[in-house]
Amino acid sequence: MFVNTRIGILGGGQLGKMLLQAASRWDLNTWVMDKEFDFPAGKVTNQFIKGDFTDEELVYQLGKHVDIVTIEIENVNTSALHKLEEEGKEIYPQPSIIDTIKDKGLQKEFYRSHDLPTSDFKLYEDAQAIRKAVEEGSLTIPFVQKARTEGYDGRGVHIVRVEDDLEKLLDVKSVVEHMVPIDREIAVIGAKNPSGDIAIYPPVEMRFHPTANLVEELISPAGITPDQLSTINGLAHDVLKSFDIVGLLAIELFIAKDGSILINEVAPRPHNSGHHSIEGNMTSQYEQHLRAILDLPLGNTAITSPAVMINILGEPGYSGEAYYEGLETCLAMDNVHIHLYGKSHTKPFRKMGHVTILAEDVESARQKAREVRKTLKCKC
Ligand code: ADP
Repeated sequence: MFVNTRIGILGGGQLGKMLLQAASRWDLNTWVMDKEFDFPAGKVTNQFIKGDFTDEELVYQLGKHVDIVTIEIENVNTSALHKLEEEGKEIYPQPSIIDTIKDKGLQKEFYRSHDLPTSDFKLYEDAQAIRKAVEEGSLTIPFVQKARTEGYDGRGVHIVRVEDDLEKLLDVKSVVEHMVPIDREIAVIGAKNPSGDIAIYPPVEMRFHPTANLVEELISPAGITPDQLSTINGLAHDVLKSFDIVGLLAIELFIAKDGSILINEVAPRPHNSGHHSIEGNMTSQYEQHLRAILDLPLGNTAITSPAVMINILGEPGYSGEAYYEGLETCLAMDNVHIHLYGKSHTKPFRKMGHVTILAEDVESARQKAREVRKTLKCKC
């Protein structure tokens, strides 16, 4: 029976922790690999294997000890995962999908070759090649440069608006994208199991911090028209089927000022844009990921309440042992759900936790979220 399944999870951050909290409800047997035991997932797993998930031998050995391997981060050693898959181990998401997604260049080529809508792009070897293309006139400013690998939370993204911005180009293999006049940023999470069932969550709107490039406010459900909703649902189905993924796929989209809907990027795992689903949807994204990889019936994705999710970020100017100011005041507020990830040290803008606020309507939830943001601070 599935409850005895040993699940290996590469990555022990907060996404891993919340995945384990869902796994614990069904008493699944979980094995996590990451560098330090005191990472968020360390305290809530059955087994913690201290090790580097980019190391081929260590990942292979973990795979040998479990029945299924999954991830909470893309930057893992996929050579080991390919080898395990060839030997018959269930690896979800499939290693070839992780390879495509963790290289933003391959990811964009995937959309192009599958006729999925995304902004126009070109690939370049380094900063010099980009400058040369600008000089020759084959590339025009403005544009968005993205490191092909290892970027996250906006690190690895450089927006070139004027010629002076060329000085700060990242000197790495890059995707250079057409700069989309963005009206709104939307995320939609879908899940697929090996039997081929698909479930799509109601889309959310993401509003970003102007400088930190982290989601400042996530609004569920997104205020979109029925037409936009149906386009996004159709698109999510197409993307899940094109990848033929097993597990969760979080899809970040742009609604452009001209109304077109474009895929920005995807993540094959639980995602920041689905935190609210723990309290705000019938089935959390974490439980849904487990259902999908275990080939169980997928859960109902409907919202139970309008919700706003805000991240608790390390307060600028404070680095050291974390202390939460205003915690009790926020706990006294109705329908305010606080999640602390258990990171002992804070630094500016580090993701230390999140809060989901439920309310009768989105505007009331946003109002309360503003109060929480003013009150709850992570300092030291
Ligand atoms: P990361 O993976 O680091 O989060 P993203 O690819 O999501 O990087 O880009 C970060 C942000 O940069 C996006 O949320 C969006 O606001 C902006 N951005 C990314 N690509 C484009 C684009 N082609 N046009 C305009 N803005 C973009």
